[in-house]
Amino acid sequence: MSDSATPGAPSLAERSRRAVWHPCTQMKRHEREPLLAIASAEGPWLVDTGGRRYLDAVSSWWVNLFGHGHPHIRAALADQFATLDHVMLAGLTHEPVVALSERLGELTGLGHAFYASDGASATEIALKMSAHYWRNAGRPQKCEFVGLVGGYHGETVGALSVTDIALFREAYAPLVRLSAALPSPDARQAAPGEDAAACARRAAAALGDYLAQHHERTAALILEPLVQCAAGFAMHDAEYLRLARALCSRFEVHLICDEIAVGFGRTGTLFAHQQAASAEAPWRPDFLCLSKGLTGGTLPLSVVLCTDAVFEAFYDDRVARGFLHSHSYTGNPLACRAALAVLDLFEEGIDGEPVFERNRVTAARLNELCEPLSAHPRVRDARQLGMLWAWDIDDAGIDGFSGAYHLEAREQGLLLRPIGNTLYFMPPYVLDNAALEQLAGGALRALHAVCGS
Ligand SMILES: *Cc1c(COP(=O)(O)O)cnc(C)c1O
Repeated sequence: MSDSATPGAPSLAERSRRAVWHPCTQMKRHEREPLLAIASAEGPWLVDTGGRRYLDAVSSWWVNLFGHGHPHIRAALADQFATLDHVMLAGLTHEPVVALSERLGELTGLGHAFYASDGASATEIALKMSAHYWRNAGRPQKCEFVGLVGGYHGETVGALSVTDIALFREAYAPLVRLSAALPSPDARQAAPGEDAAACARRAAAALGDYLAQHHERTAALILEPLVQCAAGFAMHDAEYLRLARALCSRFEVHLICDEIAVGFGRTGTLFAHQQAASAEAPWRPDFLCLSKGLTGGTLPLSVVLCTDAVFEAFYDDRVARGFLHSHSYTGNPLACRAALAVLDLFEEGIDGEPVFERNRVTAARLNELCEPLSAHPRVRDARQLGMLWAWDIDDAGIDGFSGAYHLEAREQGLLLRPIGNTLYFMPPYVLDNAALEQLAGGALRALHAVCGS
């Protein structure tokens, strides 16, 4: 198969450059760096229009969990498509959305599921619901939000107000009502003699000071539990979550957990926030935002789950006290069915092997294989949690490194896209030993090519 249909005709990459405006991209870059035209995908592999294979080591922007074209998800979608493709969710309902809401409720203890199609919309919904809750509760002055330094919650105008990544929001600053960004518990910020938990306690103390002053105007704290992925895989101790929960409860501020990236097993538990819980002390956010892995990387779907207390504050005879937000594709049956198939796989395992046990074995093996990468003289802060790996590259030169590395990784048959100077892996959960060896070996060879040895 060739990239061009007929000799002399423009390639697919070239047609794309003319007709498609690609996301998160300075389009001029593609004068020099060719787009990679993908023809098909299977398991963890992408196949380009020339027949070359690439290991999808970033899970196609963090969405794919069990590989591409997984037979169980594919069969569920085919079955659903033959029965009910889509129907509006205002005034109507259907089995997939009900079953998915019930199962997510059982898994999280948060029983009310509000759907949208992408992560940023889930953030918008959680922010709106929180502020509207306080309005319904007779405290309309509680309408501000607070997030963490480096926090990422999506890029629509509302979500940008709590996203602390300057490059993404500078141009839109006049449109955005910026929220305060408090110190991140990022364990790399630990002072000499401090461990990750002490670093978390220090960040939590700053949150406590802030809330003591501003709780009367603050509706919610929004954070990414355990790993701030878009900030460059900043990882923190679960102690921060325990302290933040206690502070939010004490100051009557909602806690919104954005598990859009870290949900569905990435951190070693189904949901990252579950690592803050203990047998004696369950741990629950007021709102939980999920998307990305929710459908295993097949269809766009997001959901906001909330507590009974939130739901009840809207339950009333007066229409205006209801949550009147909507999206056309809310609760799409196909997407819900894919999500149900994903939950089946977590229950039934991959080829009969329990997912989390299998991932622990995979992670141990990949850690071993990555020792030479972690030992490279330009590499620091090697870190891993669950099925997430990250390394910071010294003197990388923020602009050049990521693009140069991406191209070298392609030469190694790997799809990798560093964030700034942070190289990371977020692979699907279905890598065999040969794929793991290619990933670790290829990532090191690409680093040598970019930085020398
Ligand atoms: C990707 C992401 C979002 C935004 O999701 P989109 O589907 O890209 O809008 C929000 N929060 C986190 C933590 C994310 O990683």
